[in-house]
Amino acid sequence: MKIREIRVPGYERVLVGSDEAAGYQGIIAVHSTALGPAVGGTRYWTYKTEDEAMTDVLRLARGMTYKNALAGLPFGGGKSIILRDGKAADREQLFRAHGRMVNSLAGKYFTAEDVGTSPADMEFILKETEYVGGLQGRSGDPSPHTARGVFRAMQAAAKHKWASDDLAGKTVAIQGCGHVGYFLAGELTRVGARLVITDVDAAKVKRVVDDHGATAVRPEEIYSVDADIFAPCALGGVLHDQTIPKLKASLVAGAANNQLLEPRHGDLLEQRGIVYAPDYAANAGGVINGCCREMLGWDIEKTLAKTDAIYDTLLRIFAMAEREKIPTCQAADKLAEERWQAART
Ligand code: NAD
Repeated sequence: MKIREIRVPGYERVLVGSDEAAGYQGIIAVHSTALGPAVGGTRYWTYKTEDEAMTDVLRLARGMTYKNALAGLPFGGGKSIILRDGKAADREQLFRAHGRMVNSLAGKYFTAEDVGTSPADMEFILKETEYVGGLQGRSGDPSPHTARGVFRAMQAAAKHKWASDDLAGKTVAIQGCGHVGYFLAGELTRVGARLVITDVDAAKVKRVVDDHGATAVRPEEIYSVDADIFAPCALGGVLHDQTIPKLKASLVAGAANNQLLEPRHGDLLEQRGIVYAPDYAANAGGVINGCCREMLGWDIEKTLAKTDAIYDTLLRIFAMAEREKIPTCQAADKLAEERWQAART
């Protein structure tokens, strides 16, 4: 195994590793450990170039510092990538090699699942290092917790916009009925909200229609449906020049990462009077569950209370945005930076 350390301004550690026998090539970026050990998943993904992978891992690691700080977790931010080269890989060898890289950081960085990885992969990593979470039979599926946090973010946005967080009778348009979308639909029907839903997968749509009595529309129709709240729970980059003008909703709160195609789309939502619950504040329930249960040893009640506190964080973001006349996405960054910088001094 060859490990090379590279200096990247603004980042504490960046390691590039390779293990020819295992067919492994990976990068670990530790952005900050000011609040505690860096926590962030391992992404197994195909990139056109190593530079592209490096840009992605650096952006994601920094994002984790902000996300963990905003969630009030005693953890910093990091992320790692295993480059997928299209050849059939022995997953055990691959993830064990990654485990050795993680181990070389001696607890400065804890990994878990991310895009392209599963709890079974984390078990391989565990054979090489103790600095891994998201294991089978531990904190379980993060999706219901993510959905709960998104629901609390919606309630906070409603409180800010309509002076009441009661979602009974409100119509919510959910884009994406996968893991999070399904559980979010459950949270919403429980409080008497109406649902309009879509997914590119007909089976996912059917499940939510059957279980929660939702109305289904075609994927391209979801932006313009008559709804009070739009919940992006599929892909990132869905809020842009073409989709924002179509929205009839007054609030946007969902689980997808990087919902704004560009930061200026946060301003566009603001100009249209749409309250945007910043994605990484709203979708922190999963990371809260994983970190609190597996790393801090909290019980489920205490952990759920922490996820429920996403409501208070969102209210703080909305208040700051109003006070400082900035879009909510900027207020979220500012609040995260305040928490993170305070720990550095
Ligand atoms: P998932 O893959 O289970 O669900 C996504 C769903 O979106 C799928 O059913 C897919 O068919 C659908 N979809 C894809 N393209 C679509 C389109 N154009 N229109 C409508 N539907 C489309 O993923 P998930 O775990 O439910 O996560 C949803 C989003 O939330 C992702 O962006 C994910 O990164 C983010 N997120 C998830 C978690 C979690 O705990 N699972 C935590 C934080 C963030």
